[in-house]
Amino acid sequence: MSLPSKKTIEIDENITHYVHKMLNHEMVLKYEDSKCVQCSFCHRVCPVTISIYDEIYKKTAIGTPDEMKIDSEKKIVIDVDKCIHCGLCSIICPGFALELLINGENKLLLIENGSIPEFKEEIHVLKNGNKVRKIVDGSITIESNEKDDSIIQKFSNECATGALSKKDKNIEIDKKLCILCFKCSEASKNYEKINVKVFRDRFMNVNGEPGSVWNAVMLRVLGKEGKIKGIISKNQNKLIDSMMSLLSKEKETGKD
Ligand code: SF4
Ligand code: SF4
Repeated sequence: MSLPSKKTIEIDENITHYVHKMLNHEMVLKYEDSKCVQCSFCHRVCPVTISIYDEIYKKTAIGTPDEMKIDSEKKIVIDVDKCIHCGLCSIICPGFALELLINGENKLLLIENGSIPEFKEEIHVLKNGNKVRKIVDGSITIESNEKDDSIIQKFSNECATGALSKKDKNIEIDKKLCILCFKCSEASKNYEKINVKVFRDRFMNVNGEPGSVWNAVMLRVLGKEGKIKGIISKNQNKLIDSMMSLLSKEKETGKD
């Protein structure tokens, strides 16, 4: 019998596996750096952030190197010791950069067991051939008095989906490609003459009965604070137990 273990395996310079092995059960959170559009949706929905570490330490199991206070060349880093392999980030990830593999199979357990409802998404293909999906409705406004072409161009390049482009002295937004991710609004804080406001109003068409887990996820994604009721704990083991019992609903359903 082997003890539970967690480890990070660099498959190559693009793909990393974050592995949690328990007995003969292996959960892998797979991350592909080239697909990541640096939107930080994953950081917002991670239940480790929402519950145990929340506001006090601002710690999380996933986020940009800045958010995680870790030095890395990667766009996103995962703290495998804190990650509970619930797969919420992979369900939400607009860039299809994350996948939860359970015993080698791609799984969306929280959707399959009804903890998270299905929601509509719009998929678009980017110039580099990668796909991106839009999952929230809302709006974006850009006010700019910037006249310097190179600064306008530099700001347009901040958007990883290619939704921003320079047209004469203006910044144009391709609303189809914009996933309302706050990346440009955060970046605009470093541009004196450019101001961006992003509003996320709601998820695009949610099917099914939203529960407390979903309510918290939705609030966080919409840019507010939300705690996941039922998995709030100051204790990492209790948090894992709670998430495991959510995940194990699948087995109970199977028995009925
Ligand atoms: S949600 Fe996906 S695309 Fe967005 S930052 Fe996280 S890994 Fe990258
Ligand atoms: S335009 Fe801004 S909000 Fe829209 S996808 Fe690009 S960075 Fe995100």
